[in-house]
Amino acid sequence: QAKDAGRGVHRLFERDREDHLHRIDLLQREFLDALEQGELVLHYQPKVDMSNGSIWGMEALIRWRRDGELRMPSSFIEAVELRAQLVRQLGRYVLEAAAMQIDHWLAAGYEWYVSVNIGAQHLLDPAFIDDVDDVLRRHPTATPWLQIEVTEQAALRDLVTTRRALTACRERGLAVALDDYGTGHASLTYLQELPANQIKLDQRFVGRLLREPRALAIIAGTLTSARLLNLDVVAEGVESVEQGELLLQLGCQIAQGYLISHPLPAEALAAWAAGWQPPAEWMGDEKSVWF
Ligand code: C2E
Ligand code: MG
Ligand code: MG
Ligand code: MG
Repeated sequence: QAKDAGRGVHRLFERDREDHLHRIDLLQREFLDALEQGELVLHYQPKVDMSNGSIWGMEALIRWRRDGELRMPSSFIEAVELRAQLVRQLGRYVLEAAAMQIDHWLAAGYEWYVSVNIGAQHLLDPAFIDDVDDVLRRHPTATPWLQIEVTEQAALRDLVTTRRALTACRERGLAVALDDYGTGHASLTYLQELPANQIKLDQRFVGRLLREPRALAIIAGTLTSARLLNLDVVAEGVESVEQGELLLQLGCQIAQGYLISHPLPAEALAAWAAGWQPPAEWMGDEKSVWF
């Protein structure tokens, strides 16, 4: 009888697994549809220089408009990244849409960097750089303002291929950021092998900065490495004035997070920029207590 029960549970797990695979499959097909039907849209979240309040640029974040609601990447990006063809199509879409947006903003007098997130499967695809070239050919003026964000985890998957892809980007004049830094155990050695010009401290560390000495140590260490390698550092997920203050004191100048702005539709950014004022606590002398 116990054996029967065991088989029953096993069958149940199998059914769960099949349901799960079926859901992923369905989601992937819906997403392909969404790409073709134009249901995808980019929202933009500002990255600002805390030391003087200037706007460094915007990160482009994908959103899926479906039946009047906005689906967030957490509900579909994993399923998308399981299929190389889909990641590539998404990557081509965001590169094109971001380059077009840069051109619009430049025409309106806004010199903002725009960064796009590129999935590992796309970055490691030999066709990645052809996709970049396609977009740059159509938007040559956008080139120096376009930045590629690659997660540290993706970069560590295949360092040689990643380096080759990122080097090709830099040769074309693009900027490169290492995203979610601190989560993939990258060492200084790895860091100096990648042609990045910016590191983004993962929001998990930023969120713990004021409470956990360990998070503070990781951030301080990263900032020291970054200074040695001449890299910009962006703190993700800045939600309080105090976090920003401490980051500034540690030598981190650029911040991104809900305190500054949530990701917004492109049309909303000019009004946001007109009203943007950094907290008084951030302004003033740029002294850093850390070396
Ligand atoms: P990410 O690149 O690390 O993006 C930062 C995420 O943190 C965004 O979530 C953003 O809305 C959120 N965030 C920003 N400020 C704060 C804050 O102060 N507090 C908190 N709690 N969160 C904050 P989002 O837009 O849901 O994107 C999640 C992830 O999905 C991104 O993480 C990125 O890995 C992926 N993703 C987004 N767009 C794309 C895309 O176009 N292509 C690919 N391949 N991945 C994308
Ligand atoms: Mg990112
Ligand atoms: Mg990130
Ligand atoms: Mg993150």
